[in-house]
Amino acid sequence: MSLNFKNFIKYVTDKNPNEPEFLQAVAEVTEDLIPYINEKHPTWNDLKILERIVEPERVISFRVTWLDDKNVVQVNRGYRVQMNSAIGPYKGGLRFSPTVNLSILKFLAFEQVFKNSLTGIPLGGGKGGSDFDPKGKSDNEIMRFCQSFMTELFRHVGPETDVPAGDIGVGEREVGYMFGQYKRIQNHFAGVLTGKGPNWGGSYIRPEATGYGLLYFVQCILENLDEDFSGKTIAISGAGNVAYYAAEKAVNLGGKVITLSNSSGCLHDPEGFSLEKLHHVASLGRELAKYTETYKSGQFFTDKKPWDFACDIALPCATQNELDEQDAKTLVKNGCRFVAEGANMPSTMEAIKYFHKSKVHFAPGKAANAGGVAVSGLEMSQNWIGQQWTSEKVDGRLKGIMENIHKTCVKYGKEEDGHINYLKGANIGGFIKVGSAMKAQGLV
Ligand code: NDP
Repeated sequence: MSLNFKNFIKYVTDKNPNEPEFLQAVAEVTEDLIPYINEKHPTWNDLKILERIVEPERVISFRVTWLDDKNVVQVNRGYRVQMNSAIGPYKGGLRFSPTVNLSILKFLAFEQVFKNSLTGIPLGGGKGGSDFDPKGKSDNEIMRFCQSFMTELFRHVGPETDVPAGDIGVGEREVGYMFGQYKRIQNHFAGVLTGKGPNWGGSYIRPEATGYGLLYFVQCILENLDEDFSGKTIAISGAGNVAYYAAEKAVNLGGKVITLSNSSGCLHDPEGFSLEKLHHVASLGRELAKYTETYKSGQFFTDKKPWDFACDIALPCATQNELDEQDAKTLVKNGCRFVAEGANMPSTMEAIKYFHKSKVHFAPGKAANAGGVAVSGLEMSQNWIGQQWTSEKVDGRLKGIMENIHKTCVKYGKEEDGHINYLKGANIGGFIKVGSAMKAQGLV
């Protein structure tokens, strides 16, 4: 039996109405997978591998009650989407943001399945979080929320079951509060979360991993074309964990980073951010506009995006659907030839189609931002054997993993004219191991 893309998307849409982000992610992946399975593994259709892979193994939704600093009771909703455990324990971050809903977490968990498989580390896919808004909360409020969140989550996670990490709004501080609560309830010092501090089970290079890995991946794309970073202008969106370390590595590799951004606007410095300027950005927190008080070369725009400025390489590192078709057209018109996603699904489907049509080298997040989960996997390995590796060792492993992901994308994404379709390569390369493991494990 062969599958038809349109019928399949109708089936998934009917089952998951009102989940636009999840449907977008499913369409983006299955457009490549369906022709591949029909040709190479038609028997997988009889086993309904695709129908199963779009259905989470388990979705947990729970109430999180906590007391704010004014002693007012607050109620939030927590989630964990345990998407697929065919090749290892569920693994994926926790996002704290008022924008969090089930559609967004299902899209992130779905993407995570393919991303984790691409790393070559045995990790399944999951994602979770809460509609809790950490912005403007005191340290004590963050702690009380995290403790309450873990008081329910602890029964669903474990070092060999499900190992969450950080994402938007969740960094080392939040991971610390959740880890402390898990340890208190279970009386067990276990590697149940990654992104821990280096003094209590964390891995060196984990904070840097997603941004550094992104640049290692772009380096592979450039080397494949006999090019390098020198003389190249880079536009980055976001000013959080991924964006910051992407900018730092880009500068170290010889590129000129000209933008950063946050939800208030875009910071443009046509002279480029030096490492010193980047350190200053970090000290400003969310007040990016204040940069211009110290560095006169910078300008802050509340009405512009990083994609409005001419660049050779665009690295969207903020959030989903932040780069649309119009942005893609502006980038291409201004000479951009490379786009690599640090964020998850930052480009709309129309933008991706435009990049492909324009022969822009486009690297999807599931390949290009896999460095974060890869080092999380290395953190789990260190926890299991009770060791802590040096920064150099972890960084070397990270670089090797990103190079292997690039090779996988080339293997499955090379087109007749020699151009690499990285999206197709990542979708198929990430799927094969998961699909065959699901087949081997029978109807579960
Ligand atoms: P952070 O919370 O550290 O930073 C997010 C940044 O993006 C902030 O500067 C934020 O600005 C900005 N931002 C958020 N929403 C918008 C918006 N609508 N418009 C403009 N700017 C926005 O998160 P991370 O850096 O960890 O994550 C960024 C992306 O990378 C996410 O898509 C995440 O899923 C993905 N990712 C993260 C990994 C990790 O290891 N952390 C691993 C792989 C992927 P503001 O402060 O104003 O909200």
